[in-house]
Amino acid sequence: MKISRTCAFCSNKFITSHGNQRYCSTECKDSQKAISQQKLYGIFKEFRKGFVGNYKLFLTLVPKSGSKTFPLIQLTNSGFKPECYYGRAKSDQEIFYKIGDYRYSLLTDKQIQSIKIIKN
Ligand SMILES: [Zn+2]
Repeated sequence: MKISRTCAFCSNKFITSHGNQRYCSTECKDSQKAISQQKLYGIFKEFRKGFVGNYKLFLTLVPKSGSKTFPLIQLTNSGFKPECYYGRAKSDQEIFYKIGDYRYSLLTDKQIQSIKIIKN
C-alpha cells in the first residue's frame, strides 16, 4: 500500500514504497544518520570534558584520602558540572555520585547547599 508522507529530514512530501519508510531518499536517510551520530559524539565530548574537569577540581580540593565539605557555589564558580559523573551509590540516607576514585554527595542545610567530596 502506498501512503503519502512527509520526509523526516527535508519535510518534502513523498509516496512510500514500503510501510515504515521515513525519508524520501537515501540521501535524506544518510544525512539524518550522520547528524545523529555527530550529536551523540558532541554529547560524549561534552560529558568527557565535564568529567575530567570535575576530577581535576576534586584533585585540587581533596588531594589525599579523606572527606571535605565545600559550599556548592564555590565549586559551581570553579566550573563544576554536577551532571558529569559516572555511577551512583547509596549509603544510609545519602546518594553518592562517582568520579574516578572520588565520590560526592549534595547536602542541603538551612537552604545552603554544600557538597561533600570523599576520596578513597
Ligand atoms: Zn527528504
